[in-house]
Amino acid sequence: MSTMNTVFTNARTADGLLHDIGVENGRIKSIDPAGSAATAGTVTDIAGDLLVPGFVEGHIHLDTSFYGGKWVPHRPCTNGFDVHERVAFQAENMAEAEPMGERARNQLELCIANGTLQMRSHVMVDGSVGLRSLETVLAVREQYKDVIDIQLVAFPQSGILKSPGTPELLDEAIRLGADLVGGLDPASFDRDVNGHLDVVFGVADKHGVDIDIHLHDAGSMGAFTIEEICARTTALGLQGRVAVSHAYGLGDLTPDAARKIAATIAKSGVSIMTNAPGNHVFPPVALLRREGVTVFSGSDNIRDSWWPYGDGDMLRRAEIIGYRSGFYTDEELKAAFDIVTTAGAKALRIEGYGIEVGAKADFVTLPAAHLPEAVVAFPKGRRVFKAGRLVAENGKVIR
Ligand SMILES: [Zn+2]
Repeated sequence: MSTMNTVFTNARTADGLLHDIGVENGRIKSIDPAGSAATAGTVTDIAGDLLVPGFVEGHIHLDTSFYGGKWVPHRPCTNGFDVHERVAFQAENMAEAEPMGERARNQLELCIANGTLQMRSHVMVDGSVGLRSLETVLAVREQYKDVIDIQLVAFPQSGILKSPGTPELLDEAIRLGADLVGGLDPASFDRDVNGHLDVVFGVADKHGVDIDIHLHDAGSMGAFTIEEICARTTALGLQGRVAVSHAYGLGDLTPDAARKIAATIAKSGVSIMTNAPGNHVFPPVALLRREGVTVFSGSDNIRDSWWPYGDGDMLRRAEIIGYRSGFYTDEELKAAFDIVTTAGAKALRIEGYGIEVGAKADFVTLPAAHLPEAVVAFPKGRRVFKAGRLVAENGKVIR
């Protein structure tokens, strides 16, 4: 779907100046000072709002949210946070939930309405659900393909070695249409870092797909696993194509130890996803960025069995990351913004991202004067354009 010859007038770009942005065939064709562009064709007046690239939702679970359905009260773990127990609670909740396709669409529309136009979703693939969740989410992706670009990760929520048949299912999932292979706590969940990573990197190598591994493990166990992931990434020439999600353990390290491992992560081109969840230590975002690590973000769970929070707004996620990281200066607030936009696009290897000539005309308008204000105020009243076409306005997707 594309729009021919549209000019978006009076759009405030990140430099604070007003521009007219010409779009042709879904791409940005020109960026001129406001008032100077030829306005043959359709004109959309941005009226001085800030115009920024569509947000990158780099980590979400479309299959397990209850958003839009009935409220599911949170059940705490019986003896502190435990991934096994949370997975068991999730299975019980899912058995009673509304149809998955409906829940996935509700959540997707929430994200799009807030300005997300690029997404990476993990979808459960394991011995209990097989490929059923993936089939459902693949069908939802197809329904929204003109509105949002979605990468799907085959996610072994029940482990790889602990859940019989999962290595074969991950392989099948890629054949079926998943774009990446995932992993989950190789040490604490499967209790075999090499055995787990053999499968993950084996599938990636075989199919030429990228990798995104959930890693909740704390302290040195988490750090050890990250070092192993970095070593394999470099050995297989997968720099820029591997992500570690959460990497909570990086938040437990001393600054010296964190700097040392950050240099390793940067060198191997592994990116780190954090959503700065409220009850965990989380990676030292500023330190990682200083060392050259790509840090990106996502909502992770929205109204699901893991926690009741989440609003699908990546701008608010930038505020949460900035708030928890102690970001006060304009440069720091811009860094928080970068995490949910440009850095996210780099981690997800999105082609044609940004507000520049030749890029995809995927953008969001916000009533804010500049990026730092956008991060602290995360204002609503947004318009969302995909390939130059209005796809959401006033918090609602236009279908
Ligand atoms: Zn997750």
